[in-house]
Amino acid sequence: MASVAGPEIERLIQLLARLPGLGPRSARRAALHLIKKREALMAPLAAAMQVAISKIQVCKTCGNIDSQNPCTVCTDARRDPSIITVVADVSDLWALERAHAVNGLYHVLGGTLSPLDGVGPQDLAIDSLVSRAHQPQVTEVILALNATVDGQTTAHYITDLLQDADVKVTRLAHGVPVGGELDYLDEGTLAAAMRQRTLF
Ligand code: ZN
Repeated sequence: MASVAGPEIERLIQLLARLPGLGPRSARRAALHLIKKREALMAPLAAAMQVAISKIQVCKTCGNIDSQNPCTVCTDARRDPSIITVVADVSDLWALERAHAVNGLYHVLGGTLSPLDGVGPQDLAIDSLVSRAHQPQVTEVILALNATVDGQTTAHYITDLLQDADVKVTRLAHGVPVGGELDYLDEGTLAAAMRQRTLF
């Protein structure tokens, strides 16, 4: 496609096109919108990104992303420290928070086991989960993983590893469709799946 704009604008479009959910056409539309709203939107967005680049960290306890470490969730004294909800990605943590489905703490694995993609246990935050599960205050580990083959393989693997820990291992129940990804569920379904969790 021939460029219709100078290299600076083309670069902006190319970068926007890399965002999930944006193809080249919508990236072009987004770029045009940003340019039109230069003062009201583009400048504040650029400033917010600049701050985010320098402030955002991965929580050393749970793997959440936040501007503080340990994160806001881990340092919230109103949360129940006896329950750890295990998720594959930060997007799942945020989905559960949107649904107000969890009152305990989290553990972000950073993916799921996937032999085909070469993702093994050493690539995920599994060791740190096992050591957290052995802390005396922890009584339950909820495996809130996708209802996909990889998600369920990971759930079984973790359940085996937690045999020695004195915790109840549960998983999400009804409402999560087979092949379903948590991030795409509506809040009601997610909250129901959390409430009706079953012993693994
Ligand atoms: Zn945290």
